[in-house]
Amino acid sequence: MVDIKQNVSLQPFNSLAIPSVAAHFVELAQEQELPDIIAYSRARQLGLRVLGGGSNLVLADRVEACVVRNVLLGRALVDEDLDTVILEVAAGENWHELVAWSIAQGWSGLENLALIPGTVGAAPVQNIGAYGVEIADALVSVRAFDLQREDMRTLSNGQCLFEYRNSLFKSAENRYLICSMRLKLHKTFSPMLDYGPLQALKSKIGLRAEDVFDQVVAIRQAKLPDPKRIPNAGSFFKNPVVTGAVFQRLQRQFPDLVFFVVGSGYKLAAGWLIDKADLRGQFGAGGVGCYSEQALVLINPERASSSDVIAWSDRVQQRVEQLFGLALEVEPRFWT
Ligand SMILES: Cc1cc2nc3c(=O)[nH]c(=O)nc-3n(C[C@H](O)[C@H](O)[C@H](O)COP(=O)(O)OP(=O)(O)OC[C@H]3O[C@@H](n4cnc5c(N)ncnc54)[C@H](O)[C@@H]3O)c2cc1C
Repeated sequence: MVDIKQNVSLQPFNSLAIPSVAAHFVELAQEQELPDIIAYSRARQLGLRVLGGGSNLVLADRVEACVVRNVLLGRALVDEDLDTVILEVAAGENWHELVAWSIAQGWSGLENLALIPGTVGAAPVQNIGAYGVEIADALVSVRAFDLQREDMRTLSNGQCLFEYRNSLFKSAENRYLICSMRLKLHKTFSPMLDYGPLQALKSKIGLRAEDVFDQVVAIRQAKLPDPKRIPNAGSFFKNPVVTGAVFQRLQRQFPDLVFFVVGSGYKLAAGWLIDKADLRGQFGAGGVGCYSEQALVLINPERASSSDVIAWSDRVQQRVEQLFGLALEVEPRFWT
C-alpha cells in the first residue's frame, strides 16, 4: 500500500525554498504504485502534480493537489553499436550524477549539460539546455504515463515537440508523468564548443569530454549561486527572440545590446536587459531580488513566500517592458 501523507512541507523540496505545504504528498519509488496513487486522487477529486528536484518551480503557500515526488531509480545500457550507446534512465535519477557517470563510462554528449540541478524526468519538460546543447540532441524517446488516457506511452523525440525551453510536456502540463527515457550517447567525442566561454578549449590538444565537463562545472560554479546557500531557480526569464525589425530598433537605441542570431530571428540576453534596467543587485519585499553576479537569476535569500517572488518577477517584467517594449517570459513553472 502506498504511503500518502497529508499537509507535508515542500520547503525542503524546492530550490527557491518557498514555504509551501502539499495537501497530499507521496513518493513514487516504483511504477506499480501508480494505480493506487491515481485511485486515491480520483476518489478525492484531486489533481496530480509531479515533483522532481523542485529546481524550476514557484510554489503557492498551499498546493491543493496530490504531489507525487518522483524517486524512480535505475540506469541501464540497452543497446550499442560501434559508435553509440543507448541508455535507459529512470526519471528520479539525479541529472548531474547521470552526466558525470556517463562521461566516466567513456560516453559523450551530455558534458555541456553538467551541473544542471534536478531530475532526469524533468529534463525533457523544458528541454533543458546550456552552452549550445539541449537534451533534445540526445533524447531518443520518453516513457510516460498518460494521466488522461491512463496508460503508459512511448513518445519519440519528434512527438515530444521540443523547442527552446519548451516541449509537449510543458504545454500539456500535468498530463504526463515521465517514468524513464532513452538517450543516445557517443563513444567518439565530438565537442560542441561554439558557446563563448567554451571556445578557449578549441585549441586544446587531445581534448576529452571530461575537460569540457570540468570547464562547464567551473564556469557554472563561478557564475551561479548554489541554491543550498542562496535559494534560486536558475535563470528566471527566457531570452526573448525578436524579429529583425524589433532588433534593429533596439540596436539603434542600445548599441551594446547583447544578442545571438537564431534562424531568421535574434535572441536577446535577458540578463543584459535586466541589468540595463538597473535591477541587478536590487531587492524588493521579502528580500527577493536579482543576483548581483547574474541579473537573470532571481534569488530568495530570506526564504520568502511565493507572493514576494511573484511581486519581484512582475516588477522585473514591468521595468523591461517600459525600457525596451519587450515582454519577458518566465522560465519556471508556477504552481499557484
Ligand atoms: C542553479 C540553477 C541552475 C539552472 N540551470 C539551468 C540550465 O542551465 N538550463 C536549464 O534548462 N535549466 C536550468 N535550471 C532549471 C532546472 O534545473 C531544470 O529545469 C530542471 O530540469 C528541473 O528539474 P527538477 O527535477 O528540479 O524539476 P521540478 O522543478 O521538480 O519540476 C519542473 C517541472 O517539470 C515537471 N516534472 C518534473 N518531473 C516530472 C516527471 N517525471 N514527469 C512529468 N513532469 C515532471 C514538474 O511538474 C514541473 O512542471 C537551473 C536551475 C537552478 C536552480
